[in-house]
Amino acid sequence: MSNVNKFEYAPAPESAALVNIKSEYGLFINGKFVAPKSGKTFTTINPATEEILARVAYAELADVNLAVTAARNAFTKTWSKMPAAERGKYLYRIARILQERSREFAVLETLDNGKPIRETRDTDIPLAAAHFFYHAGWADKLSYAGHGSNPKPYGVAAQIIPWNFPMLMLAWKIAPALATGNTVVLKPAETTPLTALLFAEVCQQAGLPAGVVNIITGDGATGSHLVNHPGVDKVAFTGSTGVGKAIAKAIAGTKKSATLELGGKGANIVFEDAPIDEAVEGIVNGIFFNQGHVCCAGSRLLLQENIQDELLEKLKNRMNLIRIGNPMDKNTDLGAINSAAQLSRITDLADTGDIEGAIRWSPNCTLPTKGFWYPPTIFTGVSQSHRIEREEIFGPVLSVLTFRTPQEAIDKANNTPYGLSAGIWTDKGSRILWTAKRLRAGVIWANTFNKFDPASPFGGYKESGWGREGGRHGLSGYLKGQY
Ligand code: NAP
Ligand code: MG
Repeated sequence: MSNVNKFEYAPAPESAALVNIKSEYGLFINGKFVAPKSGKTFTTINPATEEILARVAYAELADVNLAVTAARNAFTKTWSKMPAAERGKYLYRIARILQERSREFAVLETLDNGKPIRETRDTDIPLAAAHFFYHAGWADKLSYAGHGSNPKPYGVAAQIIPWNFPMLMLAWKIAPALATGNTVVLKPAETTPLTALLFAEVCQQAGLPAGVVNIITGDGATGSHLVNHPGVDKVAFTGSTGVGKAIAKAIAGTKKSATLELGGKGANIVFEDAPIDEAVEGIVNGIFFNQGHVCCAGSRLLLQENIQDELLEKLKNRMNLIRIGNPMDKNTDLGAINSAAQLSRITDLADTGDIEGAIRWSPNCTLPTKGFWYPPTIFTGVSQSHRIEREEIFGPVLSVLTFRTPQEAIDKANNTPYGLSAGIWTDKGSRILWTAKRLRAGVIWANTFNKFDPASPFGGYKESGWGREGGRHGLSGYLKGQY
């Protein structure tokens, strides 16, 4: 292993010149970029360098009113009247443009978010395009989707997304909404608005009728105006459980329906008969992919006690090879933390691990001096009462627990208010099925982790959310069944 450590890579930077970032962006309402009524703006930065990338419009209630009205008009006058096959053609067109412009999108996402170019290039953007392709195919086949013979759209969908997968979450929201005949007002997160604004240009390029997609930038207050707007028929939210609960309260008693994709504290369970080297790769992918800013991260590692020493040694050796730094370098594994606020949340919560008696380990690594960074970290000696075991850290921090019997693994895995994802590592198919049946998690991976496909429904149990996104199941969140 020590020889491998000495292996050095030459820098392989992707070019920021591939994307033309404007100095200022308006709101995308009714097919055009417009200035916000108040004239207020805010900046978005590159979290790897703290450089300002652009100034972005701040939407207040007056702007939300305009966007919802545009979406309503587009719904009643154009989109709901269009033959479904025609709607599908727009989705195909958008999907193809996303593929054609994928490099531009990948660079912009990496600059605005801080995640490695390897991930935006190979995961975020291809999967976003795949979601449009997949849902394009459904547009004219909705009567066969299991939601009645003539399912109808709700109307105007308010969609609010987080900063961890900005473009992918946009695709998860917009593609099914449009395929089912709804129109959209989408609010990206404050720290990552730029790929959504580039997507607005794609809508123009695809000739999408004005008002079908509206994109308004702002912060939590903008999101709250959108959720509470009486002209909204459906709310689709991805973000924290706290804000999800506030939204559920806000829409209670209204006609609005909602899907909520919230937080998680996924258990990654490794049995004694697991292929250890593969499991180590899965553990690294499970918690260090996207700096651990992943709702379905495998943030709790449950190891069968008798393989603990061997596995932890291999995991530490593997973590020594993780390359941290410039997200634009094609060899980088771990990029920047998305914001100063998120870095301080990670730091504070991880510090409780030390205070409560868990044992911290990180590889020797030099962090850049500018920007927001956190080293890949594991805690051993973690018990179920520790905050780092119970609360979502949403960063590159893994809590390691052990178990002796399969039943103990199940009990520990399910002992959480969340229920989004889980992983199972074992040589035996029967053990995979035995375990999966008993886990209360919406997505369960076996001998792999963090695999996504537009045809596969994604969503949570308990406080991880309501409803599913993706697949045939995900369509139901946007359709009123007529049986
Ligand atoms: P967040 O604070 O809940 O923000 C999510 C979005 O909601 C952002 O656009 C945010 O705007 C907006 N928002 C904030 N307050 C609001 C309010 N009162 N009303 C309406 N909208 C409001 O979450 P985050 O910290 O950005 O994202 C991390 C969380 O998302 C984690 O808990 C993670 O597990 C979860 N997540 C879940 C999934 C899933 O599929 N289950 C996927 C990804 C992330 P601003 O950012 O502009 O403030
Ligand atoms: Mg940013």
